[in-house]
This record gives sequence, structure tokens and C-alpha cells, in this order.
Amino acid sequence: MARRVAIGLIVLSLCACQVLQGLGGARRTPRATIGLPTALPSATPRPTRLPLEPTLTVQPDIDTPQVRGLRPEYAADLLLTRDWTRYSLDIRVALDPRMEQATIDGQARIRFTNPLATPLRDIELMLWPNDPQYRAEMRAGPALVDGTFVDPVPLLGDLALSLPLAKPLAPGATVDISLPFHIETSGPIGGEVPQRFGITEGILVAPTFYPLLPRLIDGAWQVEPAPPGGDTTNSETALYDLAIRAPGDLALAVSGIEVDRSENPDGTQTVHVVTGPMRDVAFALGPLETATVQVAQVELRAWYLPEHAESAQEMLEAAQVQYEALTDRVGPYPYPQLDLVDAPGAFGGIEYPGLVFIGTLGGTNVIEPTVHEVAHQWFYGLIGDDQLHEPWLDEGAATYAEVLYYEAAGRSGRATGMLSDLRAWLRSHPDPTLPIGLGVGEYADEREYALFVYVKGALFFDALRRELGDAAFTEFLHLYYQTFRYRVADGAAFQNLAQDTCGCDLTSLFDLWVWQGGQIPTLP
Ligand SMILES: [Zn+2]
Repeated sequence: MARRVAIGLIVLSLCACQVLQGLGGARRTPRATIGLPTALPSATPRPTRLPLEPTLTVQPDIDTPQVRGLRPEYAADLLLTRDWTRYSLDIRVALDPRMEQATIDGQARIRFTNPLATPLRDIELMLWPNDPQYRAEMRAGPALVDGTFVDPVPLLGDLALSLPLAKPLAPGATVDISLPFHIETSGPIGGEVPQRFGITEGILVAPTFYPLLPRLIDGAWQVEPAPPGGDTTNSETALYDLAIRAPGDLALAVSGIEVDRSENPDGTQTVHVVTGPMRDVAFALGPLETATVQVAQVELRAWYLPEHAESAQEMLEAAQVQYEALTDRVGPYPYPQLDLVDAPGAFGGIEYPGLVFIGTLGGTNVIEPTVHEVAHQWFYGLIGDDQLHEPWLDEGAATYAEVLYYEAAGRSGRATGMLSDLRAWLRSHPDPTLPIGLGVGEYADEREYALFVYVKGALFFDALRRELGDAAFTEFLHLYYQTFRYRVADGAAFQNLAQDTCGCDLTSLFDLWVWQGGQIPTLP
């Protein structure tokens, strides 16, 4: 996630959720779209309040090849493990005619293999749209687990649920879970306290819109709330097969690759999408136009409101430079497409695998959120990290990648200036000696979290680069990518790899910046 405003202006508190507004009112004239179905919006039915019913009819052929979600030269990545979790999600999206409320009705089928050496007694699932950062309400279940009816047990209020297993799932054994889910959402998501799920300017922004398996840490499901201000999800890489039915006059941007599309008699469209190995997916639906740039075998695709066409071009150009810079610096992006979606007010931007939301189009600050979120494709998307407990690994890296962008764009003066700005911000804090390696909730507030994890985190990457030298720093990033692509890194492993690269002891550097803190040297 990119910070929305300058550090000194970050708003600290969450506002109370506004009451959902009623349906009805005048029909909004749809905006013109390019290259999309032109049917007028159909009347969307009021979502049912009937009990949800589990079914195993979702995607019976759950072994659908995912190969189209990868560039041909990376097709073999699918063979890295036979045990990728597979999500098959069949959803129907409806918006009210004024595009102020939306519902998502879905069936999820999840095939999960126990990776532990010990049996699992339950399966737990996160319902992230119920988190306060999401302007939504979600319910899910009951479930069928290997064909047996299971009533979920709520956890953490309604943020997660547990599916108790009739008999423990043995190490290496696979379970087939099917459950329905329902989400209601509204807007706006911008304003003083942005939210990551909801409607903005007629665009439905829908990340992590399905029950998500958390990670297993030390043999237990990582089910914990996300402190305000930081990212929320932690999940392992999986394969996704999505069928999305949505109003036919709106553009649909989705993580992954569209493999099939049909228009339905009721004016809706059904889009079938598959992904390569990704740790989450998101979609956006709205009156969006598109523009693309092809970089080698990868298509960068902008989705934007017509009034933001000029900004979208600026976004695409910056994304291309950053894409090429990080391909060289870190490693290849293995998917055929990256979507950059206009989402006014969605922080500076928010990252999801294969799709980023940019909240600043039409304003003066388009480049930095864009290149920050593009960098998250490597730092969080491909190289995972614990976003709750070691967020510096992706946020420090993505912020420093803004400096790398300016260097790659031939704007070394701006790169130097940005580092000076970051140092000045850090010096503005009464105690700049705090370490960067704390969890989101361990800093005093959102401002302090942003200052140490983003700002000081970026300065740490710069300090590491100075310590290693530029060539060894790049060599380290390559090794880091090769070691942790599709996996989840941690700070200790990061340090070990850096030390392996230089053949040196970096204990004092990491203690000073990451683990213990202290007075960092004054830099030019
Ligand atoms: Zn970020």
C-alpha cells in the first residue's frame, strides 16, 4: 500500500462506517466505454437473504490447467509443487442502478493439502471484507467438506471462521471444501480515512472478495486481526480459477488472464479467468476505458475513467520504466499481464498480485504511487512476507523502489532528493532510533508505522546497498527473488542471504536498523 499523503499529514483514526444507503433513485447514464459491450445496465435483483447453500457443483473440473496464467517460458513453475492450493470461485456481481451499492454472491471451492508433519483438526478461513478497512459486510457458509455438511464456527467476531473436521487431516492429505459467500458493499472509499474495498466514482473495488486460507505458522492457522493502517492479508501462493458474472456494460479488470467471455441474455457478461501461482486476487468493475503497452511478453494494461486518460498515460509510462528496472534488478515477472486500475481515493494505491489500484489519477502525484505499487508485484506478490509482523520487507522495499525508478528514468537528481526528503522526515520524529523490524501494531500509531516501516525502511535498503556495493546489492536481490519467489521470506532469512552474497557479517548493520535500532550515521 502506498501512503496516501505526506507523512506529516497522515490521518490517524478510522471513521465510523456510514450507513448503507437505500436502493433506488434515478438511473445513472453509463459512461462510454471503448471496446466493451454497449448494452445498457440491466435491473439488478435485490440480493437474496435466504440461507446460503453449499454446493459441490462449482467447477467440477477443478484441475483446469492454469498454464495460460503464466508466460510460456515460466509454464514449468506450475510443477514446482503438486500441492498448490486451488481456489475455484464462481461469483455474480450486481450493482444498483446508481452504482452506489453492490453485492457479490459466490460459491468457493477450495482444494487444500496439509503441508504440515502433523494432522490438522480444522480448516480456518479469513473473511477479510469484514475488517474495518473494507467498506463491506461478508458472510460465508455452511460448508461441504469432502461432501460432508459442516457448520462453521465464527472466529474473531466475524473476521474468520473455523470448519471443524470430522477426522483430522493427515500430513500430505487433501481436503475439498465448498462454501457459499455473500458480500454487500457501498461507497465512497476515499476521504480522510480511505478504505480498501467498496465503490468509488462508480467503480467497484473488490480485493480478497472470497474466503481466504490464512498461513500456517508453527502448526497453527495465522488468524489474527490486522491493526489499522497496515496491510491485512497473509496467505500462501495458490492457483485461482474464476468465473465472474457481472453487468455487461461495465469493464471488468481481474488478476490473472481472461480465457473466455460470453454475453448472457440478461445483459450480463461472464468472464472466465485463470491465474498462475498468486497469493491473492482482486477485481474492479466500472465504466473504465483501457490502454495497454506491451513490454516484451507482458502486457501492462491501464483501466481508467475517461476524464483520467492523460493521467493514465503517465501511469503506464512510469509502470513500464519500473517494470523494466525491477525485472533487471530483482527478477522476471512470470505472468502475461499486469493491470493498473484507476480507483480514486484508494490510498495512494493498493497492491494485489497481478492488479494494482492507483488512487491518485487526475492529480499531481501519479508516478510515485504507481511505481510503488508496481514494485509490490515483486515485494509481497512474488516474494511474500508477513505483512502484519515484518511489513518492512515489502514496504521498505517498495518505497526504496521509488528511488530505483527515478534512477532508471534518468532522474538521478530526484532520486537523491527523495532520499534527502526521507532523511528529513525521519529526523522530524522525536526518537528516530526505533528499529524498522516491528509489526504494524507495535508502533505507537499509523504515523509512526509509516515513518519507520516506509521511510526508515527505504533508507535501510539504501544503507544495505551502500554496504554491499551496487553490483552485490543487485546480486543479493536476484538471490532473494530466486530463493523466495512464490514463498514467504522473513527478516532473518533476508539477512542470511545478504551475508551469503557479500561473504561478510552484517550483524551490526541489521541490529542497528532492523532488530534493535539506534542512532544511524548521518549520511550526505
Ligand atoms: Zn506499499
